Amino acid sequence: MEAQERADVIIIGVGAMGSAAADRLALQGKKVLGFEQFTIAHDQGSSHGGSRIIRQSYFEHPDYVPLLKRAYELYAELDEYQRSAGGEGLFFQTGGLYFGPEASVTFSGSRMASEMHHLPFEILDAEQIKQCFPQLTPAPTDVGVFEEMAGYVVPESTVAIQVERARSNGADIRENEKVLGYDSLADGGVKVTTASGDYYADTLVITAGAWATRLLEDLHIPMVVERQVMHWFDVGEAYEDYAAGPVYIHETENFEQIYGFPAIDGPQGGGKVAFFRAGWPSDPDALDRVVTPAEVAVLQERLSRTLPQLGAGAPINARACMYTTTPDEHFVIGRDPRPGNRDIIIACGFSGHGFKFVPVIGELIANMAVTGVQTCGIPLFDPLRFSEVKNAVDLL
Ligand SMILES: Cc1cc2nc3c(=O)[nH]c(=O)nc-3n(C[C@H](O)[C@H](O)[C@H](O)COP(=O)(O)OP(=O)(O)OC[C@H]3O[C@@H](n4cnc5c(N)ncnc54)[C@H](O)[C@@H]3O)c2cc1C
Repeated sequence: MEAQERADVIIIGVGAMGSAAADRLALQGKKVLGFEQFTIAHDQGSSHGGSRIIRQSYFEHPDYVPLLKRAYELYAELDEYQRSAGGEGLFFQTGGLYFGPEASVTFSGSRMASEMHHLPFEILDAEQIKQCFPQLTPAPTDVGVFEEMAGYVVPESTVAIQVERARSNGADIRENEKVLGYDSLADGGVKVTTASGDYYADTLVITAGAWATRLLEDLHIPMVVERQVMHWFDVGEAYEDYAAGPVYIHETENFEQIYGFPAIDGPQGGGKVAFFRAGWPSDPDALDRVVTPAEVAVLQERLSRTLPQLGAGAPINARACMYTTTPDEHFVIGRDPRPGNRDIIIACGFSGHGFKFVPVIGELIANMAVTGVQTCGIPLFDPLRFSEVKNAVDLL
């Protein structure tokens, strides 16, 4: 086996976040070695299915908004790079509507984030929603935030172009090479082991998605891998309305959220729609990818109230995907807090809403790796926040 030259940074997991980190690090001239257990832009993890909502009126927490402003800039730059290389684009602005009862987090949280950060938005009542978007049937008391800036990004194209650019800047990205183990070295740096040998670097980045629950098991970050299904239904005669429509999120009075996309795959492709956070715990290596007729029927019943043509449309496709969810649904980004592991950076627990941030997460990781700073600078993402709670509870 050949002795390997030491890299600046090794990345475990070249999916969404790993490809972004590789891209940003390679752009800065760093020697990057990335390992992906499957192929680039595969459909076995969390980054497949053709579309991801991107928006700035962020009901999850207003602190995400500055990151989203930067993500928009970086997505625009990636989109341009991809088009200049002959691609069809990966970032599409369609407008976004977040509607439900006035007290719903979908409506009130979107409005709060928009107001706090002076984002342009409009408030629509149920009648105005019906007039603007005839495919939607809001409840009479529903209200919505409409955000013109919102749209969708294409996950597979994003991962692929980030890897392509990283490789063109010298990154060595290896596919079908699973990392079996890693260790911090006593004199600094790390060792990573795959079936083909040992590799060394100054810094290790772990962006293993659902498999972070395995690779970071000793950290006891309470992350749960959840199976979540995306569905496509025929929209029939409402195709024109769906094709021109916005991305949308609707919440009921029972706090149940569904979200969906315009019909982006032509009349035969249907409209994509899903429950937000209605999955169940799963093993990333044994994910049940079969979607049952009963699951389809539950969603169709829910759609019959708010998106009647979609609810009545024939099912075209359904795909399982994985969320890796933390108790507060915020991300985990920072240095590995285990003693002796300061050369390891972790980015995981994206809790089903990470894709819109992808290039800015790559930038945060690259900044940590290059400067050596101890945190990513965003307390919301602190890997230690759960152990603090745990320690406080232990003291009681
Ligand atoms: C159904 C669904 C809908 C979603 N909708 C949205 C949305 O609309 N908007 C939004 O912002 N976000 C959305 N998300 C969330 C978003 O897609 C995820 O947060 C994001 O894709 C997570 O990226 P990741 O890099 O952590 O995981 P992944 O992209 O899965 O990457 C992890 C990679 O690590 C590799 N790996 C793991 N272990 C090893 C190992 N030992 N050796 C080598 N490689 C390894 C894996 O094979 C994988 O490629 C959605 C997710 C799902 C599932």
